[in-house]
Amino acid sequence: MELEDINTVAVLGAGNMGHGIAEVVAMAGYDVNMRDINDEFVQNGYEQIEWSLNKLAENDQLSEEEAEAALERVTPLVDMEEACGDADVVIEAVPEKMEIKEDVYTELEAVAPDRTVFATNTSSLSITDLSEFTERPGQFCGMHFFNPPVRMQLVEVISGAETDDETLDVIEELADDIDKSPVRVHKDSPGFIVNRILVPLMNEACWLVSEDEATLEEVDSTTKYGMGLPMGSFELADLTGIDVGYHVLDYMNEVLGEAYEPSPLFEEKVENEELGKKTGKGFYDYEDGPGAEIPTDQQSELVEARLTATMANEAAKLIGNDVAPPESIDEATKLGAGFPDGPVKMVDEFGIENALETLEEAYEKTGHERYAPADYLEERAGEGGFYDAGDDEVGADFDAIRVEYPGDMVGHVVLDRPHRMNTISGELLEELSEAIDLLEDDDEVRSILITGEGEKAFSAGADVQSMAAGGADPIQAQELSKQGQSTFGKLEACDLPVVAGIDGFCLGGGMELATCADMRVASERSEFGQPELNLGLLPGWGGTQRLKHIIGEGRAKEVIFTAERYEAETMADYGFVNDVVENDELEDQALELATDLAGGPPIAQKFTKRAMLAGRDDTDAGLEYEASAFGHLMATDDLMEGITAFMGDGEPDFQGE
Ligand code: NAD
Repeated sequence: MELEDINTVAVLGAGNMGHGIAEVVAMAGYDVNMRDINDEFVQNGYEQIEWSLNKLAENDQLSEEEAEAALERVTPLVDMEEACGDADVVIEAVPEKMEIKEDVYTELEAVAPDRTVFATNTSSLSITDLSEFTERPGQFCGMHFFNPPVRMQLVEVISGAETDDETLDVIEELADDIDKSPVRVHKDSPGFIVNRILVPLMNEACWLVSEDEATLEEVDSTTKYGMGLPMGSFELADLTGIDVGYHVLDYMNEVLGEAYEPSPLFEEKVENEELGKKTGKGFYDYEDGPGAEIPTDQQSELVEARLTATMANEAAKLIGNDVAPPESIDEATKLGAGFPDGPVKMVDEFGIENALETLEEAYEKTGHERYAPADYLEERAGEGGFYDAGDDEVGADFDAIRVEYPGDMVGHVVLDRPHRMNTISGELLEELSEAIDLLEDDDEVRSILITGEGEKAFSAGADVQSMAAGGADPIQAQELSKQGQSTFGKLEACDLPVVAGIDGFCLGGGMELATCADMRVASERSEFGQPELNLGLLPGWGGTQRLKHIIGEGRAKEVIFTAERYEAETMADYGFVNDVVENDELEDQALELATDLAGGPPIAQKFTKRAMLAGRDDTDAGLEYEASAFGHLMATDDLMEGITAFMGDGEPDFQGE
């Protein structure tokens, strides 16, 4: 089956996941038959879709018409044959019980056409076992969405033992087409990628507390503020439901053995039905206590070493058994769990040898199988890391940004941290600085376009989390401010014209970045602001200096002192935004402007930028520069080209000579 052959998608189950999956599939233009076992359940799911689409429209993430059209494409059904009798793809999201799924697949096989591809959203059951309930194991795979599907970008596309490549390809294309980011899991292995990393990590956090090696506060302080993960380990478990992780771990224990034995603390919580936020109490108390209050200053080296070593061992098992390569593990975990960096990269940075040593010591001390180092970990420790060193090509290993070449001499920098609203980390600054050099040195590139990945944000500011990870250290904070100032300064002073294409939030450091572009195009839904003063800070990446040159000191003070949010239209009135365009036209219009600028005379553009910058605080210096540049330009071929084209009414073809 090809993507073009998919018109109707059936979703089985209208619960938590089923209704969300139906919604995203319908938003992408497919007809969706959503089926549940009775009218009440299916209607309930339908109403949740309606509520969610309205919310998206209220937040300008969809137009009212688009929301209505998406809802119209969803048909709530109870009859299996009606739902699946003409479906091209069926996505199953019924309860996580083998017996229920067996019944569902048996019923489904009896009514579905031969061409139909089946995809299961199971979190932990074996894809191969499930496929055996059907007569089409080749046309069966995992399609694992994350909760809630509307917001979570990741879809793991999982191969069963018998799955055809064609099936995986088409489901991956479908995931792409519904605006998700698929990551392929090459083998049916418990927990797939994200849960395989997260759940043992959770278990190790519990073991550390159970064995009195660390306190709960130390573990969470270390994960959140030391390792820079989005939440403390226990805080995360309370949010997702302790029973959910336990269920996956239990299955891993059954299939993969002793290394996945649940720790006493984990078991105790499940037995006492203290399952997290949803029951009012989990590792933290949300009803009678303050909830997850995590100290910033109780970080422990032992906790970091053990947790990193646990990730190293799980990653090694995944890579060594060909379940997924390092890049996929990192991408999936960033998208599915909001990790600022992938776990494999974190291990390489921590030192793979240190991780191995930590496991060996703990294994010797406790004899517990969970510390037995994987063969592949030992192998890679000999090589110095999971990732191969030596790929020195500039830009080859950008993580926080992407550099693309959309044709016509434009170098396109995409801020690529959508899981963190494209917030600016130290790594992003370093990569951006490298990318500016790369593009300036590239003769084929004549202008730069900067945009943010996804529809939510150009950039929502500095990555406060990764900063807090460094502790509230004034020296480090000052260094980071300087690093940002110098990267942004480099962008501002770069010889090529720079366009910022802004869609969504453009706040704080993100706005300071946009300020360094030469021109700004924004979508209608974009929101601007310098919220730093609300946090007791000040704009630390040039905001106190540069903004006033664009919108005037009075307005700059207003924006910074009030720390308010501004709409795109207002920022256009203030002169910050050059053009406001419709939401879905942003990308094209910004590229068009960048392409236009790329067609301009490079030497004259460079000198113009330099003259304006030189004269910013010293008009005489600027005028001096202007005069000498004027003289210099007289001798260029571009001038002749420009004059000839002007006289002949044609388009000049500037060569920058
Ligand atoms: P849920 O209990 O919220 O929803 C399941 C729905 O399936 C219910 O509405 C139920 O009435 C319906 N159902 C039961 N039997 C059915 C049948 N024979 N035909 C059609 N519908 C039937 O469960 P959920 O959280 O949506 O989970 C569904 C699947 O998604 C599970 O396999 C789960 O492991 C997986 N999953 C869940 C999450 C999560 O965070 N909840 C995340 C990823 C994957």
